[in-house]
Amino acid sequence: MKKIIALALIGFMTLAALPLFANGGGEKTTQKTVGIAMPTQSSQRWIQDGGYMKEILEQRGYKVDLQYAEDNIDAQVNQIENMIVKGADCLVIAAIDGAALFNVLEQAAQNDVKIISYDRLIVNTPHVSYYATFDNFKVGVIQATSLVDGLKLKTNAGPFNIELFAGSPDDTNAYYFFDGAMSVLQPYIDKGQLKVVSGQTDFDQVATLRWDGVVAQQRMDNLLAAYYTDKKVDAVLSPYDGLSIGILSALKSVGYGSAKPIPVVSGQDAEIPSVKSILAGEQYSTVFKDTRTLAKRASDMVDAVLKGEKPEINDTKTYNNGVFVVPSFLEVPVSVDKSNVIQALVDTGYYTKAQLGL
Ligand code: BGC
Repeated sequence: MKKIIALALIGFMTLAALPLFANGGGEKTTQKTVGIAMPTQSSQRWIQDGGYMKEILEQRGYKVDLQYAEDNIDAQVNQIENMIVKGADCLVIAAIDGAALFNVLEQAAQNDVKIISYDRLIVNTPHVSYYATFDNFKVGVIQATSLVDGLKLKTNAGPFNIELFAGSPDDTNAYYFFDGAMSVLQPYIDKGQLKVVSGQTDFDQVATLRWDGVVAQQRMDNLLAAYYTDKKVDAVLSPYDGLSIGILSALKSVGYGSAKPIPVVSGQDAEIPSVKSILAGEQYSTVFKDTRTLAKRASDMVDAVLKGEKPEINDTKTYNNGVFVVPSFLEVPVSVDKSNVIQALVDTGYYTKAQLGL
């Protein structure tokens, strides 16, 4: 009996020791796969985000599956499902609709796939490990501050006429941008120094579904026809360069920039058409969010979760996704106008002069 127990014990110990030897023998570990789900290629920034991440992660030895969903929510869900089925170990997702991924992320969790929320917060799910983004409230503050500077509100009593635009209601960033901007603009509106002639100041009235420049252009056309036949627009809060270009087209089509001065228009992302527009004296400002920095940050998070380590984070308070506060790293957005284009975008190697037509 003793012998049997002793043998069983030896057998058990050998089994227990096996994994140690198996890993210690210098045998090749299998290459891990990272799925990157980006919203659309219609905006230059996401092409850069995806491209930089792919490059960094491949250099670090990962296999990368990079997909764009052209702003189609179902397509993005399908792409993520496929990544899980094909055995992804970690997913980096910039959601089209931050609330539409509940089921697919349940599936991810069941397969032990880790999730990094990229730039946009994924909401109403516990299955997000970390969030890599910029300080989104600050982005809005920068946009509105540039309008204050462009109108010289500190010294010029006005009143000035302004219209407001916000981003897509299914993207939490849009609310942070708008709240940040209104934290600067509201006191001027309250004093009467800024007048929103249309009266449209609620997020729901000024939001732009899917960040679509054509939708923004149409809304600006309508505002001009309905409220500005005998008044002049002095400024427009625009949360994204793609909208700014549409808004400026609407303005130019009724004589702004020729018969009337071009209003002060903000933006975001430092996309090439908008940077050129800033250099040409049309769009007033943009917000530069260095996609190289964010791509590196998210790649570090991927590395950490796949190695069972903790990545660096700098915010544990701001981004409640409806289930929990997602540990985040907020990168720093930079204000850009005509005065610092070269310094911010060329000297940092983000664009060449030739890309900006210089
Ligand atoms: C991003 C912005 C971008 C916008 C439209 C937001 O979630 O943070 O950088 O301008 O989406 O693509």
